[in-house]
Amino acid sequence: MCPPRHLPDSDLAGVHVLRTLDDALGLRAALLTGPRVVVVGAGFLGTEVAAAARTMGLEVTVVEPEPVPVRRPFGDRIGALVADLHRDHGTRLRCGTPVRRLRGAGGRVTGVELGDGAMLPADVVVLALGSTPATRWLTGSGLRLRDGVECDALCRAAPGIYAAGDVASWHNPQFGTRMRLEHRMNATEQAMAAVGNLLGDAKPFAPVPYFWTDQYDTRIQAYGVFPPDADVRIVHGDPVDGYFAAAYGHHGRVVGVLGWNTPRQVRTLRRLVVERASWTAFTVVPVLRPATVN
Ligand SMILES: Cc1cc2nc3c(=O)[nH]c(=O)nc-3n(C[C@H](O)[C@H](O)[C@H](O)COP(=O)(O)OP(=O)(O)OC[C@H]3O[C@@H](n4cnc5c(N)ncnc54)[C@H](O)[C@@H]3O)c2cc1C
Repeated sequence: MCPPRHLPDSDLAGVHVLRTLDDALGLRAALLTGPRVVVVGAGFLGTEVAAAARTMGLEVTVVEPEPVPVRRPFGDRIGALVADLHRDHGTRLRCGTPVRRLRGAGGRVTGVELGDGAMLPADVVVLALGSTPATRWLTGSGLRLRDGVECDALCRAAPGIYAAGDVASWHNPQFGTRMRLEHRMNATEQAMAAVGNLLGDAKPFAPVPYFWTDQYDTRIQAYGVFPPDADVRIVHGDPVDGYFAAAYGHHGRVVGVLGWNTPRQVRTLRRLVVERASWTAFTVVPVLRPATVN
């Protein structure tokens, strides 16, 4: 388990993280008491918790130092649409402002103080600040530990030692870059690849990463990688209608596709990432015209 990041004073009652089943049951019980909720961190976990709490009718505020939610995974343009989605459902967003500290009285959280001095009263605070790979026990083992256990393209950390899942950082030849993924499907596929290589396959693990997030009535699905400096084009549908597909271009290649309530279209578009299709030729590729995507 990658342990969650905390803030100082996060041992106050009413402050929650979400990693384990017990965490989930504890948070659910707290939300059922009808509290004012502040979620710290607008990544996948934070935005999903905010959507769930808001759907329960609770007063919810999300605090995020970046200018838009989910900026790191999806960039500014899609992040702005996710912000609109939350605002349309009545969730308040405080983006562009970090948390300075948690406030409490009698051992219980009472609010969240922001970097700009604002105070957000809260009965429940959810910390969704990401996690750190659990590699401390490997310190001094001789393995390279930077962002997780460093492996080569075969998921090999050292002769006879392989790693898979959240803890493994490896060189993905499909994208020519090192990556570490925290997605269920990757944990499964990488474990199979690592075992195969351990048994002598010698086959590089070169997946197109896939992940999804469900927020309110919206399902966002993504294949590939989404560099912050990528070009983004809407290639099917229209964000104003609540369904569309977008493609991400980087260094002249299609590197990612994202579907917003468009599961079939984004599955079709995925092959452009697999084939590393040219971004320049992309505008004239017939499959990308809305009428031909099905
Ligand atoms: C709240 C939450 C929601 C998520 N939602 C999604 C989602 O919607 N879709 C998705 O694709 N992914 C999601 N994920 C991510 C997904 O759960 C992980 O990517 C997946 O569980 C990774 O599997 P893993 O086996 O690498 O690590 P884990 O499932 O974390 O398992 C690692 C295990 O190793 C154990 N361990 C740690 N150190 C040691 C040690 N020294 N010795 C022995 N054992 C040790 C841990 O206790 C743990 O049991 C979510 C994660 C969280 C926390």
